[in-house]
Amino acid sequence: MAKAANLGYPRIGQKRELKTALESFWKGASSEQELLNAAKQLRQRHWETQKQAGIERIPSNDFSLYDHVLDTIAMVGAVPPRYQWNGGAIDLPTYFLMARGGQKNGQNVSAMEMTKWFDTNYHYIVPEFAPEQTFRLSSRKPIEEFLEAKQLGIHTRPVLVGPVSFLLSGKSQVKGVTPLSLLDCLLPVYAELLQELKNAGADCVQIDEPFLVLELSAEAQEAYRKAYTALHDAAPEMCILLTTYFGSLQENLPLALSLPVKALHLDLVRAPQQLEPAFAALPPAMSLSLGVVDGRNVWRSDFERALAQLEKAAHKIGKDRVLVAPSCSLMFTPMDVEAETALDADVRSWLAFARQKLDEIALLTRALNEGIAAIQNEYDANQRVIEDRRESFKIHNPAVKSRIAAISPDMLNRISPFPARKAAQQAQLHLPDLPTTTIGSFPQTPEIRQARLAWNKGKMSAKEYETFLRKEIADTVKFQEEIGLDVLVHGESERTDMVEYFGLQLNGFAFTQNGWVQSYGSRCVRPPIIYGDVSRPQPMTVKWSQYAQSLTTKPMKGMLTGPVTILEWSFVRDDQARAITCQQIGLALRDEVHDLEDAGIRVIQIDEPALREGLPLRRSEWAHYLEWAVNAFKLSAAGVKDTTQIHTHMCYAEFNDIIEAIAAMDADVISIESTRSQMELLGAFVTNHYPNDIGPGIYDIHSPRVPGQQEMEELLRKALKVFSPSQIWVNPDCGLKTRRWEEVRPALDAMVKAAHTLRQEVKK
Ligand code: GLN
Ligand code: ZN
Repeated sequence: MAKAANLGYPRIGQKRELKTALESFWKGASSEQELLNAAKQLRQRHWETQKQAGIERIPSNDFSLYDHVLDTIAMVGAVPPRYQWNGGAIDLPTYFLMARGGQKNGQNVSAMEMTKWFDTNYHYIVPEFAPEQTFRLSSRKPIEEFLEAKQLGIHTRPVLVGPVSFLLSGKSQVKGVTPLSLLDCLLPVYAELLQELKNAGADCVQIDEPFLVLELSAEAQEAYRKAYTALHDAAPEMCILLTTYFGSLQENLPLALSLPVKALHLDLVRAPQQLEPAFAALPPAMSLSLGVVDGRNVWRSDFERALAQLEKAAHKIGKDRVLVAPSCSLMFTPMDVEAETALDADVRSWLAFARQKLDEIALLTRALNEGIAAIQNEYDANQRVIEDRRESFKIHNPAVKSRIAAISPDMLNRISPFPARKAAQQAQLHLPDLPTTTIGSFPQTPEIRQARLAWNKGKMSAKEYETFLRKEIADTVKFQEEIGLDVLVHGESERTDMVEYFGLQLNGFAFTQNGWVQSYGSRCVRPPIIYGDVSRPQPMTVKWSQYAQSLTTKPMKGMLTGPVTILEWSFVRDDQARAITCQQIGLALRDEVHDLEDAGIRVIQIDEPALREGLPLRRSEWAHYLEWAVNAFKLSAAGVKDTTQIHTHMCYAEFNDIIEAIAAMDADVISIESTRSQMELLGAFVTNHYPNDIGPGIYDIHSPRVPGQQEMEELLRKALKVFSPSQIWVNPDCGLKTRRWEEVRPALDAMVKAAHTLRQEVKK
């Protein structure tokens, strides 16, 4: 018989209980024991939910107090020296010190680096490997959590980050030493762990090796062979499920199938095409875990399609060798649709969050084992919903579709090339060399948040709220005039979040009340759900920009979030290519850009901080993505007159490998983050002779520290060594919304003065 399996469950809790418990502990408002109890309760509840849903392979050790890669760092004792760990079992203070930084023996220690986990919006702690790195089993979490579940009468399958993926996700601090060269000393820790898990009663482990879906070096391929041979030899009776997800194994399929493991997991949502080739080469004793339920998105599964895949597998290899599973851990989806009482009923019926996905897995398993008749009612209901969604007028907007069909290449390009535009803009804007500006947002003060809350709760009328915001804008404009900035902004006080603000005003977007997913640690986000064709019923930002412009003769910069960023930070419909959804957003923004221009706004910024994040995992797919992503941006931006200046902004980015795409966006001005790298990041722009204007950030807004005028001058001098004064803009690294006015006032004042000093210097 086929078995219903899960690979991981959201940790944070339906009411974000883990967040509450963590933050209360960090504040010192609760004890370590209280935190651990809260975590234990969540684990228990989640295991029981899975059991009740009929899941037969229930994961343990998928829970984490902060991050599962950090858990692995703790498990193998890879604590960087600055945390002065004494080598015993890793205690909670050391664990959180690695995650968040803080004080140790009276000294400040920085947190470990954090980065995005593959192409998800989840951030993991990046392992750091020191010179002479050694490893030893330093946390018994996998064993303890296995035993904890066992006590509850639930036999679980512990989840581990695989040794090769663990090393590949980290960074060696020693030049010339690759993380993979540490494999030999890491493997004994895993071997010991498997032994201990076996002694505790585990018969099966899930070992995650998502790096198998990427292009692998010869060294990495060899590492896989060596690692899994060693693990097999260490515990020959232990059944190892080797888990791959987020893409297709492709050329690594023979490698994966050659490893001495009991079962292999394939992501059939992202890569259904890998099923056939897997049959052909599957060793007789190996089972397949088939990821047919989407662990990365919020849509209900199409039972017909999923069952077709499952039945094909059962036919080829026999039901006994089939596990029915989500494509990856369910931690990337929100917890429970049932909690969404305010959603449009149709949209809601199309959704499945983690809890519903468990039901889907169990139902599909039954249908596979006993035939569709065994779940006929549920099957019919599923197919009705799938059909409803496919045909719904809420999704399909013929006007949008015909506009998309009518997009012509000339819509993607500005009227004149950059030099001519620059002259036309300059004739209007009369900007000095090294013009100063900001990235858009000003501090989101407690007063702003209170007012928004009061308005949301109906305690403040729309009129009062509007008056409040106008006053905020007027104050912000006045401040900018006082310190002498050249291109002003209205400050974005009316916005909560740069994607949500637009999604709320666009057709085709839905918002949840409780659809939280973990971003990092205790931080959760509630991404919008793009369910239908996107269109803009009316202008979204014009009234604010127009009002702000009316207060000043300086140019007021209109402020929009770009199509790629809106797409990347949402759950996206799965019934059409992402490129098309992105185009639709691009068209809606194009209309907004037009309306801003008509309203007299001469400078418009379209932020694309997520452009780089959207890059496919495999290099071979980059070119295609970059083409449609850049075109969507251009669609939004290029409909303006030469005299209208288009800015874009990106942050947290490395530019070297996408610089050509950035140049192809053809924004008149790009502002980027560069303070922390001390302008090193500019290398890419220089080598490639980036032709348009550029504003390398000179004020690190991620820190409360107020930079001095001189250090900003130094950064500008560095930039001036490689760009001409007429090409450079002066601005912070990013928006100022997380900062306080007490920091922002002196910092921006010094920034403007630094620009003035340098203007004099370049004249000489
Ligand atoms: N305009 C936005 C702001 O200033 C840009 C934010 C971002 O790049 N993440 O807040
Ligand atoms: Zn930014």
